[in-house]
Amino acid sequence: TDFANILDTRVLRALADLGFAKPTLVQSKAIPLALENKDILARARTGSGKTAAYCIPVVQKILNAKSPSQDGNSSSIRALILVPTRELSEQVSAHLRGLLTYCADEVSVCNVCSGTTNHLQRTLLSDKPDLVIATPSRALVLLRSKALSLASLDTLVIDEADLILSYGHDEDVRHIFGDNYLPKVFQSFLMSATMTEDVEALKGLTLRSPVILKL
Ligand code: AMP
Repeated sequence: TDFANILDTRVLRALADLGFAKPTLVQSKAIPLALENKDILARARTGSGKTAAYCIPVVQKILNAKSPSQDGNSSSIRALILVPTRELSEQVSAHLRGLLTYCADEVSVCNVCSGTTNHLQRTLLSDKPDLVIATPSRALVLLRSKALSLASLDTLVIDEADLILSYGHDEDVRHIFGDNYLPKVFQSFLMSATMTEDVEALKGLTLRSPVILKL
C-alpha cells in the first residue's frame, strides 16, 4: 500500500515534511483496514511506526466526516486515544501536531493529561475538540463529572495496552467500556507490544470481530 492512494493531500504533505515517504510494515497493514472501519488488534513494538499507524487513519476519518459532502461541521468529540502515561500523551500529541500541519484548523486536539482538571472541564465542555488524548483514569474522572461526552465517538484507540494494564488502569478501562459512556457503534484499535492474557481479556472487552495483526 502506498499512502498516496488513500489519504487526503494535506495529510500527504505533512507526511512528506516528516520524511515519512513510505509506510512502515504496521502502517501498510493497518491503515487500509482502519479506513475500512475494521476493529484492529495490532502487536507492534515502539519503533515500528505504530503511533502513526493509528494516528493517520484517525485524522483521515475526522477529515472525511467533516468534508462538506458529509455536512459534518458540528463539533463533537469523534476520537479518543487512551495511553498509559502522561509522557506518552505528550508524544502522541506531538505526533498529531506533525500530521495536522496543513489541517490544524479542521482537526482540533485536546490532550487532557496536561493542564488542570477544572480548566479542562471548561475547555471540553465549550470547545468540543475532535480528538481527545487521555489516560484511562483522567478520562474516567471527566466522564463521571460529565465534562467529557463520548456520545458522538467514531474511533477509540488504546495504545500500549500491555502497559495500560501493568500500570493498573484496567479497572478504569472496564468502567469506560462498561458504564454506558460509549455509543453503540464505533471503531476500536488495540495496540500492544506483547500479547499477554490480560491483553486477550481487554480484546474481548473492547473489540468486535477484530483483524489481528501480529507483526
Ligand atoms: P513509533 O513506533 O510510533 O514510536 O515510531 C517510531 C519512529 O518512527 C518515530 O520517530 C516516527 O516518527 C518514525 N516513523 C513513523 N512512521 C514512519 C514512516 N512511515 N517513515 C519513516 N519514519 C517513520
